[in-house]
Amino acid sequence: MGQTVWMTAEGDRYHAREDCRGLVSGQQGGEAQGFELRPVEQLQAGQAEQRGKTACGICGGSEQGS
Ligand SMILES: [Zn+2]
Repeated sequence: MGQTVWMTAEGDRYHAREDCRGLVSGQQGGEAQGFELRPVEQLQAGQAEQRGKTACGICGGSEQGS
């Protein structure tokens, strides 16, 4: 528990790093269609998983081995 992660509401991944390029590209997903950047939500990893999100493959989603 306790690990802070970031996600966008429309994404299916959560991220350990706010500057993860996976998260950034998720934010920009609508931009090509003329939408504003999607807001990033900060929450706990456990909460993200309860909402059906999985760990990002780029940043790992959460830090293991603490
Ligand atoms: Zn990531």
